[in-house]
Amino acid sequence: MNSDILIIGAGTIGLTSALALAQDGHRVTVVDRGAVGGESTWAGAGILSPLLPWDYGPVVTRLTERGRQLWPAWIDEIRARSGVDPEYRESGLLVLGLSDPAPARDWCAAHAWPHPPPPPELRPLAGRDPHPLWLPGVAQVRNPRLAQALHLACRHLGVTILSDVPVLALSLDAGKVVGVETGQGLLQAGAYVLAAGAWTNALLGRHAQAVEIFPVRGQILLFKAAPGRLPCIVYREGHYLVPRSDGHILAGSTLERVGYDKGVTAEARAALLAFARQVLPALGERDLVRQWSGLRPGSPGNVPTIARHPELDNLYVNGGHFRYGVTMAPASAEILANLLAGRAQAIDAAPYAWPVTAGR
Ligand SMILES: Cc1cc2nc3c(=O)[nH]c(=O)nc-3n(C[C@H](O)[C@H](O)[C@H](O)COP(=O)(O)OP(=O)(O)OC[C@H]3O[C@@H](n4cnc5c(N)ncnc54)[C@H](O)[C@@H]3O)c2cc1C
Repeated sequence: MNSDILIIGAGTIGLTSALALAQDGHRVTVVDRGAVGGESTWAGAGILSPLLPWDYGPVVTRLTERGRQLWPAWIDEIRARSGVDPEYRESGLLVLGLSDPAPARDWCAAHAWPHPPPPPELRPLAGRDPHPLWLPGVAQVRNPRLAQALHLACRHLGVTILSDVPVLALSLDAGKVVGVETGQGLLQAGAYVLAAGAWTNALLGRHAQAVEIFPVRGQILLFKAAPGRLPCIVYREGHYLVPRSDGHILAGSTLERVGYDKGVTAEARAALLAFARQVLPALGERDLVRQWSGLRPGSPGNVPTIARHPELDNLYVNGGHFRYGVTMAPASAEILANLLAGRAQAIDAAPYAWPVTAGR
């Protein structure tokens, strides 16, 4: 037995789970077939909010709101343990293009989200939009730095991290996982957590039962502008711009069901460039630094599975966070750690149990 708990996948969800379980006193190992945080975690935009919150039902909202509540203290601790600043900041979100602002305003009032009128410096961005909605409490984080901070914080807590070690299969015996076969031999633990993002179903095989986690490609453009050129996150009709403190601006994203294809396309580049220039007309191709894509762990209704396997006693899944894995990460890890410890949950975790029927 190499450790108490073996986590498969060193993305945001695997690393966040590792931190929570190590803090509970478990000896934890995390194994990833590539670089730490190198998949969806690296590719994401790091907005800590659903887009848009009022478009989702209470099952998604409960987890994103718990995540948002935990984020400030949680990230302070990660910063202190790792010495890395993942650039968490409340940059605010300006929502444009709402045809009817009433549902958004009602939702904000019901969930205690401040939504004052946009301050004067944002008026040029809002232009002639009849109903701009300003949400100053929405925060962001810089994904690659988050992954680095989580990695170092895990090591600080004694978590063993094995990168470039592919898990080939789960080894099963008598209703239990007895090890995972890897490119470097069998790894064993008392319990196993599958946090393999878009690849979760591939590893579960027929044991996935009704769990449906599938890849959804998202493409992003990265621009470099003068710092402060864009003061806040801007969302309009399915697209967003996210400003980083050093002047980089992300334009995202696409939602494409193209299997495991991580290519980028000229169509997405043209659409995202046109959107970016609508919001910031001064941005041009000369400011474009990079285009990339990532594979989100898609799930029906954006509802992740955070649960023990119904038949394989010592196997847990924390996966399928789709568009909001970074937002949901601390809340999901909290649910997982409480499950393993047999503690009461802070929120009703029943909706994230192993699904009984496909599509939930
Ligand atoms: C373009 C884009 C924009 C996004 N924007 C946001 C946003 O603004 N806000 C937000 O909250 N979320 C956002 N997301 C979603 C968020 O990034 C994901 O929900 C989150 O990263 C999922 O984390 P994860 O750890 O489950 O998956 P991943 O980060 O994909 O990690 C899974 C890990 O498992 C490993 N793995 C897979 N198979 C194996 C195997 N056989 N053996 C060993 N290791 C294996 C992989 O190598 C990988 O490192 C975005 C995603 C994309 C792509």
